Parts: sequence; structure tokens; C-alpha cells
Amino acid sequence: MSAHRHHELPPTAGLPLQLADLWPGRRDLATLVATQIGSPPLILTCSGSAAFMVALKTLAARNPQRRRVVVPAYTCPLVALAVHQAGLEVVPCDVRRSHFDFDPDSLRKACDERALAVVPTHIGGRVADVADARAAARAVGAAVIEDAAQSLGARAHHASVGLDGDMGFFSLAMGKGLTIYEGGLLLARDPRLRSELVRTAHELARPDFHWQSRRCLGLLGYWALYRPRGLRLAYGRPLRRALRANDPVRAVGDDFSLPLPLHAVGTWRQAVGARAAVRLPDFLYACLERARRHVPRLKAIAGVRVLEDAPDTFGTWPFFLLVLESSRWRDAVLERLWPAGFGVSRLFIHALPDYAYLRGIVPGMDVPNARDFAARSLTIGNSPWLTDADMDRICEVLERTRS
Ligand SMILES: *Cc1c(COP(=O)(O)O)cnc(C)c1O
Repeated sequence: MSAHRHHELPPTAGLPLQLADLWPGRRDLATLVATQIGSPPLILTCSGSAAFMVALKTLAARNPQRRRVVVPAYTCPLVALAVHQAGLEVVPCDVRRSHFDFDPDSLRKACDERALAVVPTHIGGRVADVADARAAARAVGAAVIEDAAQSLGARAHHASVGLDGDMGFFSLAMGKGLTIYEGGLLLARDPRLRSELVRTAHELARPDFHWQSRRCLGLLGYWALYRPRGLRLAYGRPLRRALRANDPVRAVGDDFSLPLPLHAVGTWRQAVGARAAVRLPDFLYACLERARRHVPRLKAIAGVRVLEDAPDTFGTWPFFLLVLESSRWRDAVLERLWPAGFGVSRLFIHALPDYAYLRGIVPGMDVPNARDFAARSLTIGNSPWLTDADMDRICEVLERTRS
């Protein structure tokens, strides 16, 4: 059997765009998505990180004496950069063993009266324990900001994620499901807090011709190339180049730099996103159906753990997040499948304190469970093009490489 798939699969399930989405027009993307997920009004921003910064700056203006933001030690490096750019301190907190969510004891040690916010993070559509984060935050008077960047459409206790905390944000970046190439949505339950967020968002996001043009071109590129033929060029080739250069951080696109741009989102990208968003519920349902088919198979392989929904939560399935018994096994699987076009990849390469470029932003500290999770986890993209034959091949490699 050939080692490489003929057409490239993406590492996450993005909602593909159609030609008819691209016509000019005016639509209110934020209102449409709020109706779909049943949330209070959403605030559209130029990225998930920008939405997070709006939340942080608003909170910091209310509580100038609190400067610390407690985040999982295994999360997107953009989270740390956004905290830093907002003029605040990153406090990484270790995760539970074999999981991405906060370890409850470590969380209580990380929280004191200097904490401005705690950031429970819903990774890959799986819902984090916001109730526990809320208890730890309340005990010291901190706020809760849910990072739902990867989880638009996920529900917990019969409501959208983002509504259990004080605030929540989604990402509309490429590959995170619904996309306008780069964008974000911010929500708050409390109407007073929401109007403060609107004001901060307005102050931070000025019209910017340069960024606006770049993002429009990016979105056109996404329309043209986010399909198996185009992905080889846009995703597969740069991926394999980075892997050959032994640069896994670049391979997963974890290499970001400051400052993160802050600007307004133009009407055309909003209109494109709103037309695509109409297809989002069906798209998420199709992802769920594939998950129902593939997850039992993956779980049946001895030594493989697949992260699934916690009780009373209904997540989305952009990819499958697996934790293998040993890092040696994980590395053997990746050696065969990462460059091979099957959409098998890694999520974040390191625990936050271990990114060289975050030194000076993230304090060095011991986060053994986050490091272990980074070393033993891998992802399988759950895109519309993932076939049963692809899954056969992936399972075969998982079974054969186990040592
Ligand atoms: C992508 C991501 C972000 C940042 O969102 P952008 O829209 O890319 O700025 C934040 N947190 C997590 C967990 C993410 O995956």
C-alpha cells in the first residue's frame, strides 16, 4: 500500500466555501451566529486572540491591581502572546494527566488575589470543566474567560460553551470550522459587561486597509485551495518542508510573533462568513456522524485513548484527539503518518513554558502533565474527505507500530 495519500487531507475540519458565498453584500455575521448557537449578542473581532485581548483589557480596566491570567500549560501560544500584549502576566497551570484541562489542585495553587482571570479552554470541540474553574476563580475574586476558539457549536448543559463563564470567545481562523480567514467572536452573559466589551472592541479595532486587503486575499485563497487538490499545495508542501527541516513548531503553524494585529473586519468577509454559516449546523452534524463511526474503532486499539465528551456535554468534532500509551509509539506513528497526507498531525508542540520564542513571556516552570500530554498526543483531522479507507490505513499504522 502506498505510504502517501494521493490527495491531501487537512488536519482539522474547516467548513469549505462555495463560489456563491463570495458575492459582495452586507450581512450581519455576529447576529446570525448568535441566533444559531442561542447566545446573547456576539461581538465580531479580527481574531480569537483579539477577542481575548478585548476581554482582558476590559477586565484590567475594572481591576487595575490584578495582573495575572491563569491559562492551561497546554494551550495555543497565541493565548500567551495575547496576555502579554494586553500588558498582563501569563500564569501557566498544569493540566490533568492525559488531558488538556486544568488539574484542579494545580489550579487552586495558581489562583490568588492577584489573579485577574482564569481561562478554561475547550480543545478540539471537547468541553472543559468550567464549573470547577469558576469555583477556583470565585474563591479569589477572579473572572472566568472561556477559550472556545476551537469549539464553536459545542454545548454544555443545554447551552453554548462560553455561557458558563463570565465571558467566552470563538475563533473564526482558517481551519477552525467556520472561517473568515481570521476572525473572532466574543460573548458575555451580563449586558453591562457586554457594553463595556463593545466599547473596548471599538477602541482597539480601527479600519486598516493593509490588514483588510491581506485578509480578503487570504479568504479567497481559502476558497480556492481548501479542498484535497489545493491542500497539497497550500498545506502539504510547506508541512513536509518544515518536517524535513526538523521544525515541528513551524509544521503545525505554532510560530507566531508580536504584535498581534488589531483592526476592524470589513463587510465583504462578514457577508462571506454569514453565507457559509448557514451551512454550519449541517456541517457540524456530518462531523459528528463521522466521529460516531470512527471513535469506537480508534478506542478499540489497546493503548489508545480518544478524548470524548464529558457527561452532559455535546462537543464538536474538528479532529480526533488521541493520547497513546508511550511517546515512543506516538513518535513512530507520526514518523509514518504526519508527512503522508492523511491529516494526522500534532496539536500544540510544547507545553507553554517550553517554546523558545515565548521565553520572557511565559515563566519557566515544571508542568509535567502538560509536557507528557504534548509528548503522547496526536490528532486526526475529521474533514469531509476522510474516508473509511483512510481510517483503515491510520488504524493499521497505529496497530503495527505499537511497541
Ligand atoms: C486558535 C486559538 C486561539 C486564537 O485564535 P485566533 O483566532 O487564531 O487568534 C486561542 N486559543 C486556542 C485554544 C486556539 O486554538
